[in-house]
Amino acid sequence: MSATVLVVEDEPAIQELLAYNLRGAGYSVVCVGSAEQAMVRINEMLPDLILLDWMLPGKNGIEFIRLLRQDSRTRSIPVIMLTARVEEDDKISGLGVGADDYVTKPFSPRELVARIKAILRRSLPEASDEILDIEGVKLNPVTHRVTVIDQKNELQEKELLVSPTEFRLLHFLMAHAEHVHTRAQLLDRVWGDHVFIENRTVDVHIRRLRRVLEAAGKANLIQTVRGAGYRFSARSEDIF
Ligand code: CA
Repeated sequence: MSATVLVVEDEPAIQELLAYNLRGAGYSVVCVGSAEQAMVRINEMLPDLILLDWMLPGKNGIEFIRLLRQDSRTRSIPVIMLTARVEEDDKISGLGVGADDYVTKPFSPRELVARIKAILRRSLPEASDEILDIEGVKLNPVTHRVTVIDQKNELQEKELLVSPTEFRLLHFLMAHAEHVHTRAQLLDRVWGDHVFIENRTVDVHIRRLRRVLEAAGKANLIQTVRGAGYRFSARSEDIF
């Protein structure tokens, strides 16, 4: 699952340089030239990280971060500020309003990519290639296989057949095990869209995943939390 980076930068040459380097590092990149355009994109689809220029036409970078942090939907999107300003005061005010990191122009693309990676490793565990193994359910992001230990023969692994969407959903839930996610959050993070897809879609795919896991005796790992949403949990005391 490649992470999406939204670049908010009004200088075309820098926009191009960023897009080139980020695509080269394997990210999906969306570029816009102002905070207003960025808002339009974010309403359609949540990016996994925002690279934000400080000086923009219209709303500046600081005002834009403030808006993002006020809205529960966008509050936790990591933001790296890009700026030509070098004064320590500016750096502090950028971090003070909630930027996660700060890069001064001219910047080294390699260093920028390293910083993006470091932030995404924390905020987006489902974008990592790490094999997840919880309660005998093993998910491999590289081979896209989900296997369980065979109940009759513990040395044998059995592959579970899931669709690409169900794989992404299971990957997300397992990477954030024990966390409860609302349907809207799952649509945003797994489908990339909470506007045009109905909440019911989540229920349908959860049901299918449970059916697949049930055949392996593992249906209780995906739990419904009444009034809140769904979670993947190794603790089975919860009734759904
Ligand atoms: Ca600028």
